[in-house]
Amino acid sequence: MRTGNRSKPASRKPSPTPSEARDRAIVRSLASWYGRAARDLPWRTRPRDPYRSLVSELMLQQTQVSRVLEKFEPFLARFPTIERLARGAESDVLAAWSGLGYYRRAKLLQACAKAVMQRHQGAMPREVSQLLELPGIGRYTAGAIASIVFGERAPIVDGNVCRVLQRLDGEQGHAGDKRIAAWAWQRAEQLVTLTSRGRQVARFNEGLMELGATVCTPDNPRCDRCPLRSTCVARREQRTAVIPAPKPRARVRRVFHDVIVVRRRESSGKTSYLLEQRPASGLWAGLWQPPAREGTEAAPDAFALAVQLELHGLQLTSTTPTCTVFGTTHREVHFRTWHATHSAKKAGARRWVTEDELDTVAISNAHRGLIARSLQPSNPA
Ligand code: SF4
Repeated sequence: MRTGNRSKPASRKPSPTPSEARDRAIVRSLASWYGRAARDLPWRTRPRDPYRSLVSELMLQQTQVSRVLEKFEPFLARFPTIERLARGAESDVLAAWSGLGYYRRAKLLQACAKAVMQRHQGAMPREVSQLLELPGIGRYTAGAIASIVFGERAPIVDGNVCRVLQRLDGEQGHAGDKRIAAWAWQRAEQLVTLTSRGRQVARFNEGLMELGATVCTPDNPRCDRCPLRSTCVARREQRTAVIPAPKPRARVRRVFHDVIVVRRRESSGKTSYLLEQRPASGLWAGLWQPPAREGTEAAPDAFALAVQLELHGLQLTSTTPTCTVFGTTHREVHFRTWHATHSAKKAGARRWVTEDELDTVAISNAHRGLIARSLQPSNPA
């Protein structure tokens, strides 16, 4: 008796759950939106260059894109390869970084370049685990380079991405909160594993960042232009204004800096400024500034201050200080600034820098402002 051919039933892929189907739609929509809407930025070359990406990622940490755009190409003109950066003098690297703030990043970038030269023969590694061993590269930067440059399925979470994910899922809380950070990394990982390796990973991750930077902004997100609007919980429940929760106020320390901006007129008619280098650690580490010291709440006498700063033979052109306040993440720096002229050429451990050279010296934005104000008519030479 013939029994006939009993073929095995074809194994069917189980249908995706509604939440998996939603996630797949999110990945597809965002990657394709990024392909249409991405801004043209100088580090977004095709194919991606690992060195340009590394420089841009470190510059973009805590700095506006518009400011990075001003500094990115001049930095690369000065340090066109990772090898040149590794071999450069630290003072040149800091000078090229000038204006971007948070100078520690410049030192870490150079340390990273040196490590890539020494450990990887100048070739940027592609695995997150190897990238994480390099100085200056944290989880976010490692994920960004691995996914955007090398197409690895690595998640990324920064403030922008966290906000998008929280709103998308209606997850309440503040991005700085450990629970939310852990949730966001897990959620980003869940989504990125649904991408196909290669171009879609890069597009999806960059799409998350781009959406947070240009559409899902902290205030007044432009939901009508968002590719994820049909699936976004915060939009549906009209909670975009309360997700994420506002950042708890950081404790800010008040400090007082007493500064004398000293000028001298060169025979060429140009003005030079007397500058000294700040200590190698702490606020504005290693940068240059006019002679200064950290003071107390009570303003000092200008002549006594000049003696303390070992500034002898100068002519004070103001005896009442100009007061300005400069905010950093953890400090409120109250500058009390006096102005003076000097005729001596010798500077000891300090140095004279002409007005033309100021742009080539690593000086914080706060101190550049103090120098610029010394040129105002109320501070005559
Ligand atoms: S719909 Fe609005 S809130 Fe939701 S992700 Fe898009 S821009 Fe953000």
